[in-house]
Amino acid sequence: MNKNDKARQTRAVRAGVDTDSQHGAVMPPVYLSTNFSFAGFDMPRQYDYTRTGNPTRDALASVLADLEGGFGATVTSSGMAAVTLACQMLNPEDLVVGPQDCYGGTFRLLNGLANRGLFNVRLVDQTDPEVLAAALAEGAKMIWVESPTNPLLRIVDLAQTRKLAESAEALMVVDNTFLSPALQRPIEHGADLVVHSTTKYLNGHSDMVGGAVVAANEALHGQMQWWANALGLSGSPFDSFLTMRGLRTLYVRMQQHEKNASSLAEILSAHEAVDKVYYPGLKSHPGHQIATSQQLGFGAMLSFELKGGMAAARVFLESVELFTLAESLGGVESLAAHPATMTHATFDPQSLARAGISDGLVRLSVGIEATDDLLHDVLQGLETAAAVSSS
Ligand code: PLP
Repeated sequence: MNKNDKARQTRAVRAGVDTDSQHGAVMPPVYLSTNFSFAGFDMPRQYDYTRTGNPTRDALASVLADLEGGFGATVTSSGMAAVTLACQMLNPEDLVVGPQDCYGGTFRLLNGLANRGLFNVRLVDQTDPEVLAAALAEGAKMIWVESPTNPLLRIVDLAQTRKLAESAEALMVVDNTFLSPALQRPIEHGADLVVHSTTKYLNGHSDMVGGAVVAANEALHGQMQWWANALGLSGSPFDSFLTMRGLRTLYVRMQQHEKNASSLAEILSAHEAVDKVYYPGLKSHPGHQIATSQQLGFGAMLSFELKGGMAAARVFLESVELFTLAESLGGVESLAAHPATMTHATFDPQSLARAGISDGLVRLSVGIEATDDLLHDVLQGLETAAAVSSS
């Protein structure tokens, strides 16, 4: 971690601390109020109505913008509300180019809106610059990037994508949910908008649903604020408080998350029941070099394919005890998912095949439990799966 990252870690811990001049509350008070009184006739205060603006939500927005290096952040009621908000930059006939293995909810929303004629969508393999350039050359107005992608952890070269976006005069949006600003800051690589599901690592405790859009410049931030208010996408003050509490420990959590994930990636790679492991921290991962240059760490999401296909995946998922079979990711607790039937169930069979999501693919959101306990649990799950597939 360099000096600037350490300073960001400190600012994340201390966001809003000791700023209450009225009572000296060390932790910032939570403003749940729907509305705020006028000081007198025609004398509005800074805030009037919570959908439009709220001090607790603004405190979160300010630390998010700071950590991402953006001009400002708009806090939304979910990650999908953040995706919806960023999509307001598209007009009818505009083309958005997204990743073919994007998050299932984003896939559903982009296609759903496109089917109603709100814009056009093309989903491509963004790791191939030629394919990406060809899609952008069709007059794209937005490029939607996930790096690493979900669930195959493909790495997209952000600086190169920026160049392509610039020549196409397209906005570059990066969903940074998988890494958080502790491990990747897309604005430094040229992103115009950074989208988050704060439900995940930023909050980190799997006890709320929220999102955010961080804008690189004032004009875009103004548009995000305007549309969040007009569409009613703003996040709740209580969820903002929870997220801010969670993000104070973001940097230390990410260290333990990553330590556990990289140890698991090693043992998975060496195991005979496993066909392929997708983790950008592995030197064998095709995006390892790019990840090393644009990320500050490799994160804690990983996927692997079991040789025994769906049957082996089922046995593995039923055998592990420290990995809860659940959607979502980024919490302190380890989770396991079967993308084809869970997170990516919205994909039709053709899109699943095109995205490379097989029946034997298992995705792990590696938590911050003791490393040895997780290793032991995954090994016993693999042994059980291997025994069933060979019988
Ligand atoms: N983006 C990514 C990469 C996600 O994984 C998710 C949810 O899993 C979302 C966006 C949507 O976030 P939310 O569930 O908070 O609406």
